[in-house]
Amino acid sequence: MRYYLSLGSNLGNREQTLQEAVQRIGQQIGTVTRCSSFFYSEPWGFESEHPFCNLCCEVETSMAPMEVLTATQAIERELGRIRKSKIENRKSIYSDRPIDIDIIRAFDDQQKEIVSNDPLLTIPHPLYKQRDFVVIPLREIGGE
Ligand code: ADP
Ligand code: MG
Repeated sequence: MRYYLSLGSNLGNREQTLQEAVQRIGQQIGTVTRCSSFFYSEPWGFESEHPFCNLCCEVETSMAPMEVLTATQAIERELGRIRKSKIENRKSIYSDRPIDIDIIRAFDDQQKEIVSNDPLLTIPHPLYKQRDFVVIPLREIGGE
């Protein structure tokens, strides 16, 4: 399976946290086959004085999508993510975070894209094409 993950941070030492997350993805999920450069952007969908640093990486693993989600959420917790974005009135309320890891796209071993409409794991990520901070790093690693 091949996954494209989007990582973002807007608190603390952002670059260091992102690098640490990529390292843990390599240890706990699979082989990180490509990784984009850092992309800097203003907060999307909420007001904050803390700008984001983002990147995208490509991962090869035998893990199923839900297993990858469980693993990325464990890494988020290890790196100090405490508060989940609250969902109110079916609209996400975003907040500052030291680390966010989203699964953007997934492909099976026949290179077929995996589609999931489960609210726990929606892939392809429904908003990614509207987000430069995903699309630009993703294009850099050939995952767009
Ligand atoms: P957000 O990324 O929207 O700011 P969170 O990181 O707190 O918010 O994630 C909220 C929930 O979104 C998670 O509990 C997870 O189950 C769900 N989710 C649905 N689709 C995805 C996806 N493609 N990648 C990551 N999480 C997802
Ligand atoms: Mg997330």
